[in-house]
Amino acid sequence: MARYIGSVCRLCRRENLKLFLKGDRCYSDKCAFDRRSYPPGQHGQRRGRKISDYGIQLREKQKVKRMYGLSEKQFHLFFKRADNQRGITGTNLLVMLERRIDNVVYRMGFVNSRSQGRHLIGHNHFLVNGRKVNISSYLIKIGDVIEVREKSRKVQTIGDSLDIVVRRGVPQWLDLEKENFKGIVKSFPTREDITTPIQEQLIVELYSK
Ligand code: SF4
Repeated sequence: MARYIGSVCRLCRRENLKLFLKGDRCYSDKCAFDRRSYPPGQHGQRRGRKISDYGIQLREKQKVKRMYGLSEKQFHLFFKRADNQRGITGTNLLVMLERRIDNVVYRMGFVNSRSQGRHLIGHNHFLVNGRKVNISSYLIKIGDVIEVREKSRKVQTIGDSLDIVVRRGVPQWLDLEKENFKGIVKSFPTREDITTPIQEQLIVELYSK
């Protein structure tokens, strides 16, 4: 599977949105998007470029895919699952992406970014309902208890992340017991809980072509 190994800040500049891919740096004055909020590359500062409907839809899909750190294949599989569910496909897609364990440990504040979450999940640092889970695409359910393993509680990255989670806050659908290195899923997120400006209908239109 092809994996993006370039600068992640370039992705924010390309999508014209802060995707918060670099943890604490995103909140500092070192944020590349805050300093140069125009697309990367030689022609990044060119003005008045027309973008087709297809281009607009594609950018929206790329934005969400990059935000959650998925490959095209993974993202498309999620879309198909969302499309097979009852309800509004776009909302189903976003809710499912939010339910991924790599996103949940990020939202709870155990890690500073989803990519850091994937790394630590792969190294067995987390338990879900007392059992090891090392697959980042695992979808959490209501009532699940996510905790840092006893012997992983001294991992500096986790401690540091918990210290600064206050900056972005824990969403209301999750409950964090910081002192116990534990979090509980109170409910599934609603569309209103996902505050990043996303027009998911454009993604549905793109995949419906
Ligand atoms: Fe994006 Fe964070 Fe880099 Fe800023 S610091 S450009 S928000 S990844």
